[in-house]
Amino acid sequence: MGIVGHEITLSRLRAGLIRPWTMLADLVYPPACPGCGVSTGAHRGLCPICWSGIRLIERPYCEVLGSPFSHDLGSGILSAEAIADPPVFDRLRSAAVHDGVVRDLVLNLKYRDRTDLAPMMAGWMLRASDGMVAACDAIVPVPLHRTRLFSRKYNQAAELARHLARLSGKPLLPATLLRSKRTSQQVGLGARARQDNVRGAFTIPAARAADVFGRRIVLVDDVYTTGATVSAATRALKKAGASDVTVLTFARAVGELI
Ligand SMILES: [Zn+2]
Repeated sequence: MGIVGHEITLSRLRAGLIRPWTMLADLVYPPACPGCGVSTGAHRGLCPICWSGIRLIERPYCEVLGSPFSHDLGSGILSAEAIADPPVFDRLRSAAVHDGVVRDLVLNLKYRDRTDLAPMMAGWMLRASDGMVAACDAIVPVPLHRTRLFSRKYNQAAELARHLARLSGKPLLPATLLRSKRTSQQVGLGARARQDNVRGAFTIPAARAADVFGRRIVLVDDVYTTGATVSAATRALKKAGASDVTVLTFARAVGELI
């Protein structure tokens, strides 16, 4: 590993993305880059080539929509989109632009049983949450419909939420928000069709409303595209009395539909 690799390892250690106990696991599963599979020698995490291709989302960005700005216009600035069409959630934060290696990580977690990627991805999300996880009362994953959960075996958003809860010590509410309507896949649909597809898809059973009433919630999903899914989920949370909803995703599509 060259100097660049060591610097990346050090910065990731400081960011809390690598933990000492992973050294034990390294004896059993030699570390490989989660992006391309190349052996990473002594450190667990992305290889320098994959790491350099990732666009982390950092300030300056819109305080509401978290959209990256090309120039720093000062603190507390909102994007034109957030002013013209305010979202139902209070703010959106995402770890990285949905592209290249980030897209591969999302697909591997979602479809290829790579739940081992979730701790690393949740670590990035915690950092990107800008203190909102630390300030919240509970973490809620965007749920899958039970029939889809049966065919997929696990919910990728719930895996990310579970590790965020473990890293932050915040309560996880895995069964409060339910997907009451089986919807089509959002992939391939336009913005309007996505809204229609998920309208009324989420509910919170009356017996569970106290879980979110008056609470600050972090709503977790893997990718933010048009916001149709998390907006529908936020409406259900707010209807049950949630006082504040931060949407936190691993990836954020910028200027594209997936
Ligand atoms: Zn790699």
